[in-house]
Amino acid sequence: MSQQNFRSILTGSFSTPCDDNPTVAMIEAAYQHHNIDARYINCDVKAEGLKDAVAGAKAMEWVGFNCSLPHKVKVIEHLDEVVESARIIGAVNCVSIRDGRLIGDNTDGKGFLASLKKVTDPSGKKVLLLGAGGAARAIAVELGLASAAHITVMNRDPKKAETIAALVRDNTSAKADVQAWDGDASVPQDVDILINATSIGLGDAETMPPLKVETLRKGLIVADVIPNPPRTRLLREAESKGCTALDGLGMLVNQGVIGVEHWLGKTLDAGVMEKTLKDIFGAA
Ligand code: NDP
Repeated sequence: MSQQNFRSILTGSFSTPCDDNPTVAMIEAAYQHHNIDARYINCDVKAEGLKDAVAGAKAMEWVGFNCSLPHKVKVIEHLDEVVESARIIGAVNCVSIRDGRLIGDNTDGKGFLASLKKVTDPSGKKVLLLGAGGAARAIAVELGLASAAHITVMNRDPKKAETIAALVRDNTSAKADVQAWDGDASVPQDVDILINATSIGLGDAETMPPLKVETLRKGLIVADVIPNPPRTRLLREAESKGCTALDGLGMLVNQGVIGVEHWLGKTLDAGVMEKTLKDIFGAA
């Protein structure tokens, strides 16, 4: 019998469309860097194929997979277990397969938190969160669970903002409220952390959320979820006012690091992953 092992560990992603999702490049660069014999397969899975894709991953003994749009909510009905924070968020983007059991987690908010913790501990902090979509929801819940003092959710559609504020109030110790977003918004002086969790700035380095830039003050932490381009106009304006700026690459890299920790029990080199993304986005 050969002592060689020709069977790679299998991981990957289910989403559609998936052609422009760079996660495979980011994670496989780190697998190669660490000499881990694992693959990350970027699969285009349509809504009607999700059940079969999940069953296929289990049958082929994948150790786990990410779910991106449009599967983050629907995948839950195919799982055996969902961790507490993902249950509160109501969405799963990372599934681990252990002993034939499918366990769902949400690493979007956790990835954001890991990135934020490099510059501040959110415990006791006052947060202004722009946007009320899936990313905002995951971030708000994780900030609440990390003992943020107060989260104000600001969104064009205030009903969506109120849903997130209620989720935070009902499930965490943080206080949460809603602010209407009409015209250019002011950032109150007692806010510690401003987060853009809207899609404004994605693929467009010159647009930014409607804000009064003169209310960005020195010492404020300004985080953007937009990974591409990483240096958004919001972050450039924030830096020019003396704020600490945090880009969306950190969130993307850290959710990948956390996912692979779940699947393989190994912590990948975040620097290798970030460099890979910067090369892809032409932001090196
Ligand atoms: P959703 O479509 O669920 O939500 C989009 C949000 O942006 C909504 O709150 C929407 O407001 C708001 N919005 C969009 N356009 C405008 C505008 N012109 N003015 C004001 N508000 C606007 O998207 P997601 O939450 O899933 O994703 C948001 C962003 O986060 C995306 O760009 C995505 O790339 C990024 N992201 C980054 C990740 C990372 O790892 N860095 C991970 C996940 C997401 P309304 O409700 O009023 O329509």
